Amino acid sequence: MEGKYSPMSFQVVLYRRRCIACGYCVSLVPDIWMLSVHDGKVTHINHPDADDDIVNVFIEKGSRAIVKQSESICPVKAIKVLE
Ligand code: SF4
Repeated sequence: MEGKYSPMSFQVVLYRRRCIACGYCVSLVPDIWMLSVHDGKVTHINHPDADDDIVNVFIEKGSRAIVKQSESICPVKAIKVLE
């Protein structure tokens, strides 16, 4: 899990097993998402060598709108923003 819960954060689940490594989310939010150096699938920039099927991250609420956009553009629904 990346980051820690705080009242100023929200949770995102990355279903990495679904990721097809298209890079759309990385192009949109390069300061948060990257492709893992381990397997080429989406991960958080603070966890560059992720290899888990599912990764939970906490992100500052100020980035919520752009992260929601990355959720929307993912063609395989690998990014899930929790309410
Ligand atoms: S947009 Fe979806 S499929 Fe493409 S790299 Fe991001 S998480 Fe993976």
